[in-house]
Amino acid sequence: MTSLFSGSRTAELASRGLTRRDFARLAAFLAAGTWQAVNSESALAQLSQVKAIPPGATRINSNENPLGPCPEALEAVHRALTNAGRYQFELIEAFKQAMATDAGLPLDHITAYAGSSAPLHQAVLAFCGPNRPFVTADPGYEAGEMAAKVLGAPVLKVPLTASYAHDVKAMAAASPNAGLIYLCNPNNPTGTLTPHADIVWLADHLPPGCILLLDEAYIHMTDAPLETALIRAGKDVVILRTFSKIYGMAGLRAGAALGRPEHLTKISKWSSGPLPSLGMAAATASLGVPDLVAKRRKLIAEIRGETFAFLKQNGVAFVPSHSNCFMIQTPRPGADLVAALRTHNVFVGRVWPSWPNHVRVSVGTREDMAKFHAALLKVLAPA
Ligand code: PLP
Repeated sequence: MTSLFSGSRTAELASRGLTRRDFARLAAFLAAGTWQAVNSESALAQLSQVKAIPPGATRINSNENPLGPCPEALEAVHRALTNAGRYQFELIEAFKQAMATDAGLPLDHITAYAGSSAPLHQAVLAFCGPNRPFVTADPGYEAGEMAAKVLGAPVLKVPLTASYAHDVKAMAAASPNAGLIYLCNPNNPTGTLTPHADIVWLADHLPPGCILLLDEAYIHMTDAPLETALIRAGKDVVILRTFSKIYGMAGLRAGAALGRPEHLTKISKWSSGPLPSLGMAAATASLGVPDLVAKRRKLIAEIRGETFAFLKQNGVAFVPSHSNCFMIQTPRPGADLVAALRTHNVFVGRVWPSWPNHVRVSVGTREDMAKFHAALLKVLAPA
């Protein structure tokens, strides 16, 4: 096993513009457990001033799935709970095997995680640095960008195209030294898709030594293809999947990174500690339910479609999304609308600095959306 401060590690850090001292500082930061607290969807929500949501409020702010875990997952949790005095490493192995079978990849191409936040942050730690920029879309999911800032890596933001796709040509050209190009498909916050052909093009045109980090947190909400074939083809691509979204397990925690073993090893060096056995058991059980994804995708699309019809009828502009979140355009600063909706006990998502007149809204239950519609009409009504 190589020591953390071996000569090759020091040289590798230096090539990214990092010193051993930077490394030690980051390791201490991670060990203190502060990382997750600053970089998760719930922490980002807190940054937009959601301190505590009152009981009974409509919560359509964090792209969660109100359906929660499926019955098979809950049964698996109950079984695992009776043995929760043990680490239950076998449940982690079973989850990895189930993911490998599901993805059609060898077992060593899968690393299990408690969700996908950890591998997202750790991929930035593994591949970026002051000399190796992090390239992302604008507006895009900010967790990787925040990790890059902690590391001192430049963050290069590339605006979405006119059809709200990632501008893959501009992303590839953003820096010849890019360490990671982060592409979230469908994108958070817009819920819009980047065409398969563009993703394949980007995987074939990466700057030297750069990894394409493909975040498929919401891919099951859409009809778009999973991009696992890029890994099978040996490309420099790492894919992140999570059970927090379509599988409704944001609080249970399970996810995975998929990629070539040499890439996965670099990322997992930054992890420590066993994984949550209950989350692993629930995820394995969920993968075994044949029509779960299709049924949930259909229901979410129906509710999203009903809300889009309502918005059209009432003259509210929105970005057509394929996911469980979408952006509405607001006639006044988005932050004011967010605050006004809260006075009606409806908590929607946040505003992105580059789009100050848009607000992200998550797709909740029909009941949640009815409350959102009623509150929106009230806050948009002329005084
Ligand atoms: N990636 C995207 C695009 C997200 O929106 C989120 C959370 O909302 C995550 C990753 C991380 O989610 P989790 O850690 O719950 O898997």
